[in-house]
Amino acid sequence: MTTRFGIGYDAHRLAEGVPLVLGGERVPSERGLAGHSDGDAAAHAVVDALLGAAALGDIGARFPEDDPATPRGVSSLVLLERTSALLREAGWRVVNVDATIVLQRPRLADHLPAMRANFAAAIGVDVSAVSVKATTEDGLGFTGAGDGASAMAVASITDDSGITDASGSMDDSA
Ligand code: MG
Repeated sequence: MTTRFGIGYDAHRLAEGVPLVLGGERVPSERGLAGHSDGDAAAHAVVDALLGAAALGDIGARFPEDDPATPRGVSSLVLLERTSALLREAGWRVVNVDATIVLQRPRLADHLPAMRANFAAAIGVDVSAVSVKATTEDGLGFTGAGDGASAMAVASITDDSGITDASGSMDDSA
């Protein structure tokens, strides 16, 4: 059995007239994260953590903006689903994901359970295998100034296909 880890990081600018989408959740806010996709920096960090663990490249290489399969405004949960499929095809199973979102405001605490559920469904694991946290940088830097949000994530994957883990979350349907 091989276990590997990956890290992901992303940041997006906050802009007027854009919905705020983080962890696949529409969060009420006067400004949202600008991007070719829905700007979901948290989902992007998780995608890169998973791709990194499997050494399958990064989000920009896998889902280029000029690819018709990555249309403007595409839900980043779709990219996460595709990432999970890539890992399954390569023989990997996701053990767990842990993400932290850095945003000065609005506070995200009430939305974190739904974000966990969104990520778990997109990845195909039990929600107990997914952690999403939120913090501020206490007014410091670009997140503190309200210019943008960032997110970081780590992921663990294993190649023990066929072995059901304690959570019973094994998805070997693919
Ligand atoms: Mg991004």
